[in-house]
Amino acid sequence: MKFAQCYAPGRFGLSMELFPPKTPKGMDSLLRHVERLMDFRPDIITCTYGAGGSTRDRTLEVAETVHRRFGVSVAAHLTLVGSTVQELRAFLQEAWQRGIENIVALRGDPPRDQPDFRPVPGGLRYANELVELIRREFPQFGVAVAGYPETHQEAPSPEADLQNLLRKVQAGADVVITQLFYDNADYFDFCRRARQVGVGVPIVPGLLPITNLAQVKRITSLCGAKLPQELIEQMGQYEDGSQEQFRLGVEFAIRQVRELVEGGVPGLHFYVLNRSEAASAILSAVELPRKA
Ligand SMILES: Cc1cc2nc3c(=O)[nH]c(=O)nc-3n(C[C@H](O)[C@H](O)[C@H](O)COP(=O)(O)OP(=O)(O)OC[C@H]3O[C@@H](n4cnc5c(N)ncnc54)[C@H](O)[C@@H]3O)c2cc1C
Repeated sequence: MKFAQCYAPGRFGLSMELFPPKTPKGMDSLLRHVERLMDFRPDIITCTYGAGGSTRDRTLEVAETVHRRFGVSVAAHLTLVGSTVQELRAFLQEAWQRGIENIVALRGDPPRDQPDFRPVPGGLRYANELVELIRREFPQFGVAVAGYPETHQEAPSPEADLQNLLRKVQAGADVVITQLFYDNADYFDFCRRARQVGVGVPIVPGLLPITNLAQVKRITSLCGAKLPQELIEQMGQYEDGSQEQFRLGVEFAIRQVRELVEGGVPGLHFYVLNRSEAASAILSAVELPRKA
């Protein structure tokens, strides 16, 4: 299944995102968790691409293994940082040969010692150029791109960021998957503003349940997403990774998901972080408008 079909109007799509584990033990654990997640019938499972291409082969390996083992459609993330166009082409060719039907096309984050991103010679600069490359040379792929309800950290303004999102959609992206967020008002406002500038494709909310405060603080400090203060204060009373933090985070996420579903979202994308417990607890508690 491709992204366009997964999130087609009148359908409710469900996707989940993994990252490539570093060890064989991590891979075994990932497969056990994916097996549990399969009970919730995800349409597409995606696998991230490490900074600067560091996980190139493992991204493809995880996506292919999950596809073959569970028969579910998959997507490989691909970033352009540190790669020439030739290398991007080689990745795309190999992805298709391995049965991967979808690409999440991204720029990626620049290396920390080079915050002012400069493309490699023979490389690309922005994600819209990667979408153009895919559409021109590999039109068979489904393509998702990233969107930022709270505006991308480097963007000069929310308006400029939306124009850049529009470029990716005009280049041929099928859907937008958002950066994680915890205030649904930010997501709904982002959708309204995106529609106003002409973004017509589905905008899928990306969700990272907060089940371990220290971990989520680390992630949000990198991507700049706001944390829900009341929840953070409540969770702060308990140990990181404790049952209490898990319960509070899941309860918050259940409320967040219910409100998104009532607001008519085209589906959900869960950042599951290679685990199944939180997504399982949330998806067991919420009735999604999915057809049998
Ligand atoms: C769903 C999702 C999945 C992700 N997966 C990964 C992953 O697997 N690996 C990883 O390393 N990172 C991943 N990221 C993080 C992402 O790589 C970073 O947020 C990165 O900083 C921006 O990537 P982008 O594709 O949004 O870039 P772009 O869309 O290129 O935007 C980058 C910045 O440049 C501006 N811009 C864009 N186009 C233009 C243009 N034509 N002219 C001028 N300015 C422009 C934008 O406003 C923005 O500020 C993911 C993010 C999301 C939301």
